[in-house]
Formats: sequence, C-alpha cells, structure tokens
Amino acid sequence: MTNKIDVTMRYETRPDRPPRIAVISDIHANLPALQAVLQRIEELKVDQVYCLGDIVGYGGHPNECVTILREKKVPCVLGNHDQAALGELDITNFNAVAKQAIRWTQNELSKENQDFLRSRPMEISLEDVFLVHASPRNPEEWNYILSIPDAHLNFEHFKERICCIGHSHQPFIIENRDGKLMCPEEPQIEIQEQYRYLVNVGSVGQPRDHNPESCFALYDRNTKRLELVRVPYDIDAAQSRILEQGLPEVLATRLTYGS
Ligand code: ZN
Repeated sequence: MTNKIDVTMRYETRPDRPPRIAVISDIHANLPALQAVLQRIEELKVDQVYCLGDIVGYGGHPNECVTILREKKVPCVLGNHDQAALGELDITNFNAVAKQAIRWTQNELSKENQDFLRSRPMEISLEDVFLVHASPRNPEEWNYILSIPDAHLNFEHFKERICCIGHSHQPFIIENRDGKLMCPEEPQIEIQEQYRYLVNVGSVGQPRDHNPESCFALYDRNTKRLELVRVPYDIDAAQSRILEQGLPEVLATRLTYGS
C-alpha cells in the first residue's frame, strides 16, 4: 500500500493559545449539519476549530465537507471512515450499509480531497487538550470507549488535562478525580485544575444518542467552561441528498431519530 499514514505526525502547539476552541467530529458527509454547526461556532466567537475525523462516510456530501474543512485549514485527525474511503482500511467488519456508503464515497472523492485525508495525523496534542478519533490507548485500532472501565484504561495514555474523542457518536463527559471516574449529569462543566477529563464530543452529521441535533464541544480556556452544544439543522436536506445519490434509505431515516 502506498502513502501509508504517518501515525506519529503531530501539529505543533500554537504559541498563542486561542481562548475559545470548538471540537467537532463525525461529520459523515452531512453538509447541512456541518454548515449549521460552523454557523453556530461563528456566533459563539470561537477562535479555533478542530476536527476529530470521520469527515466522510454515510452521507451524500463527502467532497463538500472535506473541501470546507480543507479550505478553512481546520486541523483534523484521521477517522476510520476517512481511512476506509482512501481504501487503506479493511472494511470486512463494517456493516452492509456502511460498506455501500464507503464504496460510493471512494468513487466520489476528488484527488485533492483524498490527498487531504491521506495527510491527516492520528492525533494532535495542544498542551492542555489531546485530540484523537477513537481512543488514546490504541488510536489506529479504532476501539470504542463505551464504559467506565474502557475509560479507565485510557487515562494513562494521554498526558494532557483533557482528551477529546468521537467515534461512537454518543457524547459524554467523564471527570477523573484522582482515579475515581464520574459522569456529570449536565452537558456543561467547569474544568478543575486538579482533575482530568475524557470528553466524547458527539457527532455533527449522524448523532446516535436519540437526539437528532448535531453536537460538538466548546471549551473556553479563560472561564474554564467546557460545554456540549446541540444545534438543529436541515435534516430533510441531508436526507434528500442521501436518497438522490442512491445511498441506503436507512442512512437517511436514522437522521430523523438520532439513532
Ligand atoms: Zn463516525
């Protein structure tokens, strides 16, 4: 296989730590959702946006979504669907509709957008925040973190105060108080200097927590406030595009339910 992805590549920490950052993930080629989220991010006066990967797969606008993030120079890590869309991941374990969407995406992606995805790093370290698609423990194995024991195993695999992940499309905040893990009920918390955090930022383009609204994380380094933000978007438009492109109907209907 040519153009192997460099798993060790990291972005340099910006000398000016931007005060307000947004972390988005799992766009899955849903352009109306990405546009709604980026608009909200602008309204919130965010200084820097980061993306945790899976820009493509499932949805009907792969090129449009990659182009927007590429042109805006949004630092993005690689997701498993991005890797699959490059033909660089064995998709035997993908379900039938995911496989069908990946094959369609492989034919759709422009050379420029393929090159952009191929050059994504597996992780980005921002000094206080660590960014990875699936898990800090084994980024390239695409393991899911779905339980407190899963989370426990991962805290020793990043050194930053906060680790942001995506992958499961199910947002959560886990606070590590000296080895004791808690899940705050509220979608916003104040980051405490003595604790560490694992945050699933949810999904922009295919939420699976029974809330169909897009989700992303907002972190303000000055106020120390971290929040999971929900944004409604034009679901009908995303569904029409999926059906027009001949993609499986279930990929459209699930967006209604956030499932
Ligand atoms: Zn995903």
